[in-house]
Amino acid sequence: MSGTLHDAPPRDEATRDAAQLYFDHAATTPVDPEVARAMADCLAAGLGNPAATHPAGRAARERLEAARAEIARTVGAEEPAAIVFTSGATEADNLAILGIARAHADRARHVITARTEHRAVLDACARVEREGGRVTYLSTDRAGRIDVAQVRDALRPDTVLVSLMLVNNETGLVHDLAPVGALCRERGVAFHVDAAQAVGRVPLDVQALGADLVALSAHKCHGPAGVGALYVRRRPRPALLPLQFGGGQEGGLRSGTPPLHQAVGMAEAYRLLRERHPDEPSRLAALRDRLWTGLAPLGGLHRNGDPERSAPHILSVSVEGVDGEALVAALDDLALASGAACSSATREPSYVLRALGRDDPLAQATLRLSLGRTTTTAQVDRAVERVGQEVRRLRALAPGPLEPAESGRDWIEGEAREPLTGTHVRWRLRVVGGRIVEARWRARGCPHTLAACEIVATRLHGLVPGDLRLDTPGIAQAIGAPPDKLGRLFVIEDALQGAALQVRPSTA
Ligand SMILES: *Cc1c(COP(=O)(O)O)cnc(C)c1O
Repeated sequence: MSGTLHDAPPRDEATRDAAQLYFDHAATTPVDPEVARAMADCLAAGLGNPAATHPAGRAARERLEAARAEIARTVGAEEPAAIVFTSGATEADNLAILGIARAHADRARHVITARTEHRAVLDACARVEREGGRVTYLSTDRAGRIDVAQVRDALRPDTVLVSLMLVNNETGLVHDLAPVGALCRERGVAFHVDAAQAVGRVPLDVQALGADLVALSAHKCHGPAGVGALYVRRRPRPALLPLQFGGGQEGGLRSGTPPLHQAVGMAEAYRLLRERHPDEPSRLAALRDRLWTGLAPLGGLHRNGDPERSAPHILSVSVEGVDGEALVAALDDLALASGAACSSATREPSYVLRALGRDDPLAQATLRLSLGRTTTTAQVDRAVERVGQEVRRLRALAPGPLEPAESGRDWIEGEAREPLTGTHVRWRLRVVGGRIVEARWRARGCPHTLAACEIVATRLHGLVPGDLRLDTPGIAQAIGAPPDKLGRLFVIEDALQGAALQVRPSTA
């Protein structure tokens, strides 16, 4: 294959459309072509190890330090040496939390964080607990907000660290952290901020924040994946132990030869944010508002987070009256994130949305649309149209009022629900001479539930309501439903049995 990095391979129309409707910038962003070019140039330059004293090493060191200075400038660090390169924000969060906790392992140690933090923070905190430390997980209000008074109340004499995120990755809520920073300073407690979602979207000045440690990522703002940084305040410098050991690079906090081209890519991404795209946050905010204004007339929408304190690139909405899995399956032309269990590795609805008090069915029926530099007004309008179409279609399928054609003395009706998943099935059967002559269904359920209803409806004709044998396991197998779906498929049968109980002697 010949060609350069930027000769896009040919794509068929469907692939191109899919790429155009990318609404998952909070998960990762496309690498800016200029970033890719800077990285390619760096790789091609044949530089040495930055630790070496020969010219090739010196040249590498110069580029590495220039990258460090660029990142320091973008986030307001007092000096470049405050930036420690890592493999991403996950490692930076781990280094901050475990590094502080382990540095205080000689005494009782207590960490304060929140239930709505990223897994990189929560799992590092769980590790602290396994190593003998204590962790307080603050609850939020229904918008996901935390008040500085909650932090003050949770502080103990043995508290060594407070760790909170600046922008929530699921809801886009921007936390008001400066008062927490001031409180931590006053009490001599280290303050760590996960700012992975903040860079390039909300103003970030690590000193104004009063943070001692700040986790940064490159791939959330059009840089490469696999690189990030931890800002570590220089004066006073928090006591921090490294996670890995070796050559003592990065001030002893992150041994290993630094990935120069990655650092260069991150720095280029950060430079572009500052120099080329200063107005991007307001452009994104306008697009986000257009998205919300377009969707709101659907009704029955809950906007997650706080509209008054919302990052410009994230809109998270929970949709009433539809099954989350069915909605996401129907929107397969949109790359977005959802609360639906089927779309996550754990098959659990989002713990963040549950922490905000959303019940499971509503948490499942949550769409997170996140915007970036490649998002256009036309794409936003298309997303509004597509989400609207599918929400209306699924709501029309859900059990609702009687159709005129379904009432009358021949008709019987039955319904059943499964509250945990929000599955709701209703049958209306026309019974003549004791046998079913017509069957109609409405359901709110996952794609498998809807498919099973369709099959069952074709099998009911001529059957006696009081004597229905459906073979639900066989149907489940025929439509490829996973075994854990069987429970909700039985709801279909329960609804039919409910109808059968209504057979009147006169219709029987
Ligand atoms: C993406 C993200 C991370 C993890 O960043 P990586 O660079 O992918 O390791 C951590 N915290 C938040 C809030 C994020 O959005």
